[in-house]
Amino acid sequence: MKYIDLRSDTVTKPSPEMRKFMMEAEVGDDVFGEDPTVNKLQEMVAEILGKESALFVPSGVMGNQTSIKAHTEPGDEVIVEAESHIMNYETAAPSMLSGVQLYPIQGKNGVITVEQIKRAVRPKAYYMPRTRLICLENTHNRAGGTIFPIEEIKKIREFALENGIKMHLDGARLWNACVATGISPKEYAQYFDSVLVCLSKGLGAPVGSVVAGDREFIEKVRKYRKIFGGGMRQVGILAAAGIYALQHNIERLKEDHEKAKFFAQEISKIPVFDINLETVQTNIVIIGVEKTGKTPDEILKVLKENGVLLSSGSYMKIRAVTHLDVSMEEVKQAVEIFFKLFA
Ligand SMILES: *Cc1c(COP(=O)(O)O)cnc(C)c1O
Repeated sequence: MKYIDLRSDTVTKPSPEMRKFMMEAEVGDDVFGEDPTVNKLQEMVAEILGKESALFVPSGVMGNQTSIKAHTEPGDEVIVEAESHIMNYETAAPSMLSGVQLYPIQGKNGVITVEQIKRAVRPKAYYMPRTRLICLENTHNRAGGTIFPIEEIKKIREFALENGIKMHLDGARLWNACVATGISPKEYAQYFDSVLVCLSKGLGAPVGSVVAGDREFIEKVRKYRKIFGGGMRQVGILAAAGIYALQHNIERLKEDHEKAKFFAQEISKIPVFDINLETVQTNIVIIGVEKTGKTPDEILKVLKENGVLLSSGSYMKIRAVTHLDVSMEEVKQAVEIFFKLFA
């Protein structure tokens, strides 16, 4: 059976054009810094984000964790949003790899305010953890692809600078925020000491993320990437997919946003589902299933039997994500299947 796969924007497969571009990539040993295609990708991303330097890493998690490691010392505290990827989907890595404590703040749709952060920062006392880093997520995965308002980021940055606190952006889907708002990646990135972006989500590359920051910071990240086992060799083949993705697949994200909006509007007409349409700002739709009287797993199973794949979200929620391998036509078919099963 061919499924309509709305589980994640990571399920995309490299297109024939992308594969051709990968095949023709010049390569070298990247642990020696000699892979020209990796170097080119890193320069491209540094330029796009307005940073001095950038580093290719195998995954978004490695990008976040090497950044946390490079910014902190054991015993430091890192402020995160309670529903963030770093808090929920990175297997407690900050405690294991960096020996830091996370301080989760409950946001609204993934957004925390400078006022909340002010209350979370520790006074300088030897018997308290040192607040060292604030991590923000844009767009916010678990909140449903929501955009972090740049005005709030600006205020948080001013406060962080006054208090000697670093800032890291988990921008796995920063591209989606940029396309939805018209704000450039550079405009967002200027407020952060480090930025992680993914190439393997909406952009359709099979592997890869990039961390950007100043030169000294990136040299530290390079060391931790090696320590965490992410030093790779002739990896220009993968970097080429990233270059191709950056050149061809950013603008088209708006199609994914249109598909998600359409899907959300239609599904919200089914009385047993709860969707907050306000949060459908990019390519993710979170659907509350409590009123169906079924568990998320039961709903997912019925959908699968009828050819549609979704994934589970937080408590009593399921999630649909649009991406470049699912057409508007297929989204319409998925809507029909939802109506047939649940309306
Ligand atoms: C997917 C994701 C990551 C991690 O990416 P992987 O490549 O799967 O390790 C980090 N942050 C956010 C917000 C994500 O959605």
